[in-house]
Amino acid sequence: MSSPAFLPFARPVIDEATIAKVADVIRSNWIASGPNVLAFERALSAWCGGRPVRSMTSATVAMEVALQLCDIGAGDEVITPTQTFFAAANMITKVGARPVFVDCDLVTRNLDLEETAAAITPATRAILPTHFLAPLDHERVYALARARGLRVIEDAALAIGSRYPDGTAVGARGDLVAFSFHPNKNITTIEGGALVVNDAQEAARVESLRFHGILRLPDGTRDVDVAGGKYNLSDVSAAIGVAQMAQLEAFVAQRRMLAREYLRLWHTDPVCLLPPDVEGHSWNMFAVLLPLDRLTITRREFVDLMHAQGIGVGVSYEACHLATLYRKQGYHEGQFPVTERIARETASLPLFAAMTRADVERVCTTVALILAAHRK
Ligand SMILES: *Cc1c(COP(=O)(O)O)cnc(C)c1O
Repeated sequence: MSSPAFLPFARPVIDEATIAKVADVIRSNWIASGPNVLAFERALSAWCGGRPVRSMTSATVAMEVALQLCDIGAGDEVITPTQTFFAAANMITKVGARPVFVDCDLVTRNLDLEETAAAITPATRAILPTHFLAPLDHERVYALARARGLRVIEDAALAIGSRYPDGTAVGARGDLVAFSFHPNKNITTIEGGALVVNDAQEAARVESLRFHGILRLPDGTRDVDVAGGKYNLSDVSAAIGVAQMAQLEAFVAQRRMLAREYLRLWHTDPVCLLPPDVEGHSWNMFAVLLPLDRLTITRREFVDLMHAQGIGVGVSYEACHLATLYRKQGYHEGQFPVTERIARETASLPLFAAMTRADVERVCTTVALILAAHRK
């Protein structure tokens, strides 16, 4: 019997119609930012309740631009969770500000709002939270920000397609919201991102910040009033984005169905901590905590054993504050115990829109066998 195909932990889903459209865009010779960028931004704006949205080459640069839009720089502090991808803390550092890390909730992995409130100082300018295994508690985040006069930059890289409990899409309310369209996210433009802003004036500043800081003068020449980046999306990527947006609801529905199948079929001894089944969540990943203290194997060995069975496993995420860059700023082990535990124990199992129920069953069976065979 032939062994089943390798099942990666994430995979983009791009149909033949989209690939044909990409070929048309390339043949049109208009391949840098053009009509497809405008169409993609219109589709994103429609998803975000009509708020202005500007596309960029990644969520990382969208967060950098958001920080610049808020005039955050040297001497400023930005509060951000340490249980997230490195991008947010890196961009805070890159603009010259200081990331002030806080711990997270063990189940949702979203930032701890009590620690956030306690971390606010006169130098704090913004909160930069991640939507992780559930949409953020929007009311509490914004009540805190409003009370202390802070901006909010939402890292919604994982959350395109998520909805709050009242049904509003993530991105449709709040302050600044950054999305990612990396191939591992819920929709893809190959590489890409977007920033949701508040009004036309902020949108115009984003257009400048993503394109050299250029202003067009009435005489047809150009001026530069800020050292902008070069972050505009290509029309080829945007054409993929337009097609992917049309499939977003279907992709999310499939992810939700697969996640619920995982929760239904997952039975291990010893038990794992499973992600919460939150209504409206768009399920970018199925991340569990392994009961390592009850196993004779390390996570590395678990990942290798899964791989040997043809199943990919991701690690999302390390603890940001323990990266060399942030240790140099004085952060150390023991400061954020929940994040440090997640960083040690987390494992992301395969989840993408083209998976089947049979794939989920195969993963659940394989995990159960491996854990049972290596019980202390
Ligand atoms: C993927 C990811 C990012 C980075 O997105 P890019 O588009 O690759 O820059 C940022 N934050 C989180 C939480 C992510 O998962």
